[in-house]
Order: sequence, then C-alpha cells, then structure tokens
Amino acid sequence: MEHFFSEKTTPLIELKAPVFNEKHLRVWVKRDDLNHPLIQGNKWHKLRLNLLQAQKHSASTLITFGGAYSNHIAATAAAAKEFGFKSLGLIRGDELAENKENWSPTLEQAALNGMQFEFLSRRDYRRRHEADFIHTYRQRYPDGYFIPEGGSNDLAIEGLQILAQQIDAQCPDWSRLYCSVGTGATLAGLIRHTAYRANKQLIGVCSIKQGDYLIHDIRRWIGDATKHNRWILDTEHHFGGYAKQPPELQQFMHSFQQEFSIELDPVYTAKTFKTFFEDIEQNRLPAGSQVILLHSGGLQGK
Ligand SMILES: *Cc1c(COP(=O)(O)O)cnc(C)c1O
Repeated sequence: MEHFFSEKTTPLIELKAPVFNEKHLRVWVKRDDLNHPLIQGNKWHKLRLNLLQAQKHSASTLITFGGAYSNHIAATAAAAKEFGFKSLGLIRGDELAENKENWSPTLEQAALNGMQFEFLSRRDYRRRHEADFIHTYRQRYPDGYFIPEGGSNDLAIEGLQILAQQIDAQCPDWSRLYCSVGTGATLAGLIRHTAYRANKQLIGVCSIKQGDYLIHDIRRWIGDATKHNRWILDTEHHFGGYAKQPPELQQFMHSFQQEFSIELDPVYTAKTFKTFFEDIEQNRLPAGSQVILLHSGGLQGK
C-alpha cells in the first residue's frame, strides 16, 4: 500500500530563451509527464486515492467512462492491470461495438491491459452523471467501483495535494502556474492545495469549446471561498475544440519540441503552453514573473 503514498518528485526544468530574458521572466516546466509511463501525469494523481478506496471496499472491477481517445481510459486500464483489478470502460459511441477495426490506439492498448468495453450511444452517454443510470450499472456490477469521466471526483482533488506540495517545494516563489483543463479537477486541486499568497495566480486553459460551465464544478471542488480570487479560466484558447488540431497548434507543438526537447500532446498541453507564449506577446505577464507550466502528461506511453 506504501506505493500509493510515497511519490517520487518529478523534475522541474527551467526553460531558457532570449524572449524570457527580454521580458524578465523565469519559466519552468513541471515534468509531471515523467511520473509513470502509462498512468501518466494528472491521471495518476486523480486515480491514486480512488484505487485505495476501491481496495478498501474490496471492489473487483474499476468501472469508468470516456471517449475513444481518452487519456483517463488509458490510465484506468493500466492502473487496473498494475493493481490487480478488472476494468470496464463505458465508451462513447455505439458504432464502435461492431467495428473493432475502427478502434483507436487508446482502446486497443486498454484492451491489451485487460479492459472490457461497453459502447454507449451518444444519448446514453449523456446520462453518465445521472443517479438512475449509474444505479442500473451498480446492480449489474455489485462489486464494481465507479470512477467518473476524467477520473474527476473528490478523491481526485485530494490526490492532487502531492503535486501541489511538490510545486511549492521546488519553486516557493512561483507567481503564475499554467495548467490544462478538461473537467477542471486538476486546476481545482492545485488551487486548493498550493500555498496561498496574494501574488500567486493559477491560469487554467480550457481545451473544450464553451467551457465556462466548468467554473461551477471548479468552485465546488475548491471549497474554501477565500481561494476563489486566485485563479482564472481561459476559455478562449481551445483552438477549435477538444479534438481539434489546427495547423498553427501543430506548428507550435513541433517548434516547442525542437527548441526545448519536450514532447507535448495536442489535446491539452500544447494548447496551454501556446497560450503562455501568446500571453508573453501580449505583455500579460509582469516583469519578474516566475512562471510554471504544468506538463500534465497525455502522451499515453509515447
Ligand atoms: C485529462 C487531462 C487533462 C485535464 O484534466 P482535468 O482534471 O480533467 O481538467 C489535462 N492534461 C492532460 C495531459 C490530461 O490527460
């Protein structure tokens, strides 16, 4: 059980570039993508206490939701295998049930890790948060442990404390922390658990279109109202939406990798890191800022 709690600290790497000198910024990447090859980045922090809870309840099967390319599905399948659970993925898109040849690499790898699938119509998938809907699955799988889409629940928020503590210990004077947002749980966990100081601001960059509705969930997860003024949700930099990769984004991803030898993923981290560079161009970062870019993973074993 030790393993769930004793975490190695992932590196904080300083980036050097002329533009940072010009603007008097210091910039680091928190390489949380290096925490685990398959249960990667934020998905590991979000799953950890859920795995422990599942074990406490003697659950045999982890049951969760996701799309065909979901990093959370990949991570849950790998975690189930590593920690001795069965796993069931309730996957959006019933057309995939009969079309194994159209399965994404994510689903193929998850299947290799032992995950079983049920493919849901888009209409059923939309019901994934409804109590009635979950109830029918609970009856069918009485020894199942349910994890919501993206792994985002209260235990996930608690699980992010370790990451927040690492960041504060490695760079106590950070003033801006950029993090990618899907459900907002990672952002909320970091807001909740990083040290509170007036000059610190967290910037969540939302990968999905029209993400303003996430603010409600994020505020609920943060809880403590005194922390509500220290973050912003950037909903302008989704680059067309969740699965979209316009050429400008691909180009940025490529040149960032060339310059800094750090691979990004197109769904989350590339959008977040590009947003940071746009903020520099638009002089949104005061001279003297100490900026951390969270690399939250998303590379699925690459
Ligand atoms: C899932 C994921 C996110 C989104 O995390 P949320 O907690 O759902 O906001 C961000 N970055 C990467 C790499 C992810 O895989």
